[in-house]
Amino acid sequence: SEEQFSERINPNILITGTPGTGKTTLCELVAESTGLIHIDVGKLVKEKGLHQGFDQEYQSYITDDDKIIDELEDTLSKGGNIVDFHSCEIFPERWFDLVLVLRTNNTILYDRLEKRGYIQKKITENIECEIFQEILEEAKESYSPEIIIELQSNSLQDMESNSMRIEEWVKNWKSKKIQ
Ligand code: ADP
Ligand code: MN
Repeated sequence: SEEQFSERINPNILITGTPGTGKTTLCELVAESTGLIHIDVGKLVKEKGLHQGFDQEYQSYITDDDKIIDELEDTLSKGGNIVDFHSCEIFPERWFDLVLVLRTNNTILYDRLEKRGYIQKKITENIECEIFQEILEEAKESYSPEIIIELQSNSLQDMESNSMRIEEWVKNWKSKKIQ
């Protein structure tokens, strides 16, 4: 509800994007500089069994969205989190003050996924996901346009500028809350 939103003294940020675009790396940097708590949802799914089994064909977990929401509800309603997940439509809209969609050039992304040891089918699936900007479209369908920002994540320079931009945004958000 709107009430829960206004009670947060620290913001919640969602970092989303195709696997390999740099979500976890960026979240770690931002958590370090802002004190926001990094929540790697993919990791939680594995560790806490928030899934309905492993899909052998796609080599990925079939997430249990209700279990994920239940697991995160208390933490997110308190604020002060930076959430890292390759999907964004499963979360309640009210949780987030800012939604960032990371974008990576196809050839760069291909190399990153290959280095990660993904099977060909999974590489192809993710490259197509990025080409058709599926996560950006998903974000636009799930959140208000004013809170969505698309960020390029091709280089270390991008990573650094994205991290600084988010850090500034957090400072600004907090100072507005105090006034
Ligand atoms: P995700 O969490 O979105 O799957 P990771 O943060 O694990 O992505 O990053 C995937 C790989 O790409 C890692 O090896 C990471 O060091 C590298 N990487 C991430 N972001 C960038 C960037 N902006 N520039 C160069 N390399 C990056
Ligand atoms: Mn990750």
